[in-house]
Amino acid sequence: RFGQDVCPQAAEDPLFGLMAAYKKDTSDKKVDLGIGAYRDNNAKPWVLPVVKKADQQIRDDPNLNHEYLPIAGMPEFTSAAQKLILGPESPAIKESRAASFQTVSGTGAVHLGALFLAKFSKQQPTVYLSSPTWANHNQIFNNVGINIKTYPYFDKKTKMLDFDGMLSTIKSAPNGSVILLHPCAHNPTGVDPTKDQWHQIAAVMKERDLFPFLDCAYQGFATGSLSQDNYAIRHFIEQGFELCVCQSFAKNFGLYGQRAGAFHWVVAPGSDSADAVKRIASQLAILQRSEISNPPAYGARIASKVLNDPQLFAEWEEDLRTMSGRIIEMRKALKSELDKLETPGTWDHITSQIGMFSFTGLNESQVAQIQDKHHVYMTKNGRISMAGLNTNNVAYFAKAVDDVVR
Ligand code: PMP
Repeated sequence: RFGQDVCPQAAEDPLFGLMAAYKKDTSDKKVDLGIGAYRDNNAKPWVLPVVKKADQQIRDDPNLNHEYLPIAGMPEFTSAAQKLILGPESPAIKESRAASFQTVSGTGAVHLGALFLAKFSKQQPTVYLSSPTWANHNQIFNNVGINIKTYPYFDKKTKMLDFDGMLSTIKSAPNGSVILLHPCAHNPTGVDPTKDQWHQIAAVMKERDLFPFLDCAYQGFATGSLSQDNYAIRHFIEQGFELCVCQSFAKNFGLYGQRAGAFHWVVAPGSDSADAVKRIASQLAILQRSEISNPPAYGARIASKVLNDPQLFAEWEEDLRTMSGRIIEMRKALKSELDKLETPGTWDHITSQIGMFSFTGLNESQVAQIQDKHHVYMTKNGRISMAGLNTNNVAYFAKAVDDVVR
């Protein structure tokens, strides 16, 4: 029987375990830098003003109902999501080469893509993940039976991209391998390739016939500009790849628990592309139906309203700048506090890294110490969610860092 001996006890999810430990801590000094969710300057969740507005408009609609969505999701949501992430001028859209599905946020998109690759790859595929990467990538690909390898990404010494290591591993990947890339605001390191480095990565992947699996959970969070943050995606499409893109609206709309996201499959240009995209969409529909039947509606309704209304869209861009701007301010404040304390080590990476996270360089024992002694919660790898810092706690956090590194 499963309950008797077959099913072993699994470890608690480290991130959600960290959240529980933070909640339990009764200290009034406690600082939560664990989960990647935006917080305002009072450490409170922030409902974007534009989301409040769209939500109200939806509630005021007398025709609102709670019927099922189609299997592929709300068409007005998926088409707007597609334009946003591929770029409105994308050849993939103009040439009708993209199939788009609404998913259970970014996680659901990664899962749908992984499931499709597991089912339709000619040979057992291998996916290459950056080292380190979002921990859930490992579980998702593992669960569908795809082999996992890693490529070097973060150089612990320089606290920058290990570009040579990354490129040489990608170069040596067998033809047909899947390379998972974070197009912007890399989780957990906050370190992204430059435009020129993206060009080199794409060129090597083209030469080696590798499949780009692009997981984009932070569009608008890296630079504050939606059209800058999808640069890598646009570049890969311009290079004529067949590829897939996973899109999350959790962070950029603050719709974490609503689970709004999308999965896009782009086929390569060619005379059979119309037929190819139709076939792929038909199989994705079967996978989607058997996994979730049809996606959740409410978050997508909110995002769709904003994405399809030019006035609301402009207000959203303003909200994005508010979030990314506050994060950038906190990076500067943290660096300046550490400089003031003359904390041993170099801290330039705090301001050069981008997006939601910073890889501080604290080691596992320093992370344990900062939690025990100072009530500061961060993941074991030394990653902090920058949005957990604010003008009230940044100096306290810098002092705590100073204490554990001395
Ligand atoms: N991919 C990456 C790299 C992420 O960081 C995240 C969010 N932590 C996701 C996907 C998906 O998140 P969600 O399912 O909440 O959209």
